[in-house]
Amino acid sequence: MTTDDSPAVSLQGVRKCYGSKVAVDNLTLTLQRGELFAFLGPNGAGKTTTIKMIVGLLQPNIGEVRVCGHHIGTNGLAAKAQLAYVPDQPFLYEKLTGREFLYFVAEMYNLTIAQRDERIANLMARLDFSEYIDHLTENYSHGMKQKVVLAAALLHEPTVLVIDEPMVGLDPRSIRTVKELFVERTRAGGSVFMSTHTLDIAEAVADRIGIIHHGKLVAMGTLDELKARARQEHSLEEIFLGMTEADDGC
Ligand code: ATP
Repeated sequence: MTTDDSPAVSLQGVRKCYGSKVAVDNLTLTLQRGELFAFLGPNGAGKTTTIKMIVGLLQPNIGEVRVCGHHIGTNGLAAKAQLAYVPDQPFLYEKLTGREFLYFVAEMYNLTIAQRDERIANLMARLDFSEYIDHLTENYSHGMKQKVVLAAALLHEPTVLVIDEPMVGLDPRSIRTVKELFVERTRAGGSVFMSTHTLDIAEAVADRIGIIHHGKLVAMGTLDELKARARQEHSLEEIFLGMTEADDGC
């Protein structure tokens, strides 16, 4: 398979169990190149489990996951070279400054010094973290950490950006900047897979939306397609609540 033509992310019949608990069941979905996909679902629906399978932190019990055509289980290095992942709890090396951390990430992805410095300057200005980039990250607030982790993820201009709850802890101006950065990434041909509880952000920027409930995909499509399925001009919030209200177990 040529990786250039393959979808950014493909999950085929994926199931993940923790013991007897089925966290994700028979999940099939495709993220196209240049697409911004919002993955929604109530607490415990299976979003983080799905994301961890996409980035290779968990292996499915059944089914397969590919990133740009590379099987994440058997060709993990090639798949991960295309990926950036931001977990819901931002992780930084506490004894590094923000700048040292970004230099470390730039080196891992073989950026030139010129690329590194230009991109850091750009991201630092847009996400407004120049004031503390040279402080140890152990003293950062949650939002400060989140900004530097997002900058690290965008630094190598990944083909696929996978983000668990990108806006938690960010102030309104930063949320707007992050939305713009995501849209720019997709216009440049990259793809963004984000899980979120912030429905208005999904509504504003997502090309397609998927809703997972009790581990199963219960809806997927553009906002207009979801509205058509709900047979009314509902808001995404109403559609979401309608599709996830039946608490019928797994
Ligand atoms: P939230 O919105 O609350 O973050 P989520 O949609 O990301 O939820 P997951 O974290 O994927 O949901 O969890 C899906 C299900 O799997 C839940 O029932 C959860 O309790 C269970 N689960 C997740 N991780 C584990 C684990 N390590 N061991 C056992 N069960 C787990």
